[in-house]
Amino acid sequence: MSTNGFSTTTLHSDRRLGTECGAVHKPIHPSAQYAFEKAEDLIAVFQGRPGFSYARQGTPTTAALEAQITQMENGLNTVTFATGMAALAAVFLTLLRKGDHVISSQYIFGNTNSLLGTLQNFGVEVTLVDATDVTAVQAARRPETRMVFVESLANPGTHVADLKGIGDWCAAEGLLYVLDNTLTTPWLCTGKSVGASLVVNSLSKHIGGHANALGGAVTDTGLFDWSSYPNIAEPYRSGNSAGWGLTQIKKKGLRDMGATLSSDAAHRIAAGAETLPLRMGKACANALALAQALAAHPRVARVTYPGLPDHPQHARATSLFKGRYGALLAVQLHDSVDLLAFLNRLRVVVLATHLGDNRSLVLPVAHTIYYEMGPALRKQMGIADNQLRLSVGIEDIDDLIDDFNQALA
Ligand SMILES: *Cc1c(COP(=O)(O)O)cnc(C)c1O
Repeated sequence: MSTNGFSTTTLHSDRRLGTECGAVHKPIHPSAQYAFEKAEDLIAVFQGRPGFSYARQGTPTTAALEAQITQMENGLNTVTFATGMAALAAVFLTLLRKGDHVISSQYIFGNTNSLLGTLQNFGVEVTLVDATDVTAVQAARRPETRMVFVESLANPGTHVADLKGIGDWCAAEGLLYVLDNTLTTPWLCTGKSVGASLVVNSLSKHIGGHANALGGAVTDTGLFDWSSYPNIAEPYRSGNSAGWGLTQIKKKGLRDMGATLSSDAAHRIAAGAETLPLRMGKACANALALAQALAAHPRVARVTYPGLPDHPQHARATSLFKGRYGALLAVQLHDSVDLLAFLNRLRVVVLATHLGDNRSLVLPVAHTIYYEMGPALRKQMGIADNQLRLSVGIEDIDDLIDDFNQALA
């Protein structure tokens, strides 16, 4: 592992792992299958030797992206998927069994909440807790508890769970700690630094950054003792136990379920990731300036952003995320403002779901991504009826502030 900084490591990861014909980008490999000269080699790859057989289980291009993400997270190894949701589904469906219990933060992405509902249909029990307080997580512990799941910075409420406190407790209890790091990315906070066992990143968001490819990744931080985990199937319990968890996720989650990242998408994401610190630095600075401007606007009722001193976890975010606070704002306008008319007046900010794009995006969440779950669950998840999710991009900040001012006028 190189001792270079984050940007240098990310930029040079392809080259340092060996090039093809000197190409500085890993080439886009479209082959569905990989042929062998010798039967012995074909058999060896099927029996566990690193290599490529059928592209559903990966290509040299996805492998290069996996190595890049592993270095960004300072982890042990990574498996990529077609989307972030596919990565999450693979973690839950391959590592949990009927009768197991999961403790999850109640402040999470709506689609992940919906996925946890699907798990419950298969006999996995889920308890939702306010994970900003580690004692609430501890209180939910049962003998059958296997996994704790939180988001580093919650989509869309921007709650910051007690990431380190939960990591310490999970380590003491021997529990698997799964962190969705999508909103902070390893540039603000690596999963390993807070004691996570597995880190999920939606590559469709900040890491890819250009809204031109979907992808997801699961990284093993190397901190969890898989030899103590009862749900590892017999074929994957051989060799160094450090690799067992990700092997099962790859075999059961990628090979069997098939939500495979394409080589083309892997290339776009890897190229996007090269500028993550530049883009995210600008987006975080823009988000802070916009949060301050909106908080002072008479027609804005509430701005929730971890960079504002009145955010309940401002101090925690400051220490965990190195003084950067992400690019997502939860905004509530005064009831006197016609929400939909306001949205229709925006000229720079794009009315679209998605986040972590170079462009600023806005979405009324209760009417859209949280519509299906109904008012009671929205309330538990802290979603207000007039809440806007604002993903701040890298535009010129004056243009963003002017756009809000004219739309609010
Ligand atoms: C978007 C998102 C996901 C899902 O990622 P996709 O690539 O869109 O499937 C998961 N977690 C969080 C926190 C997200 O914001």
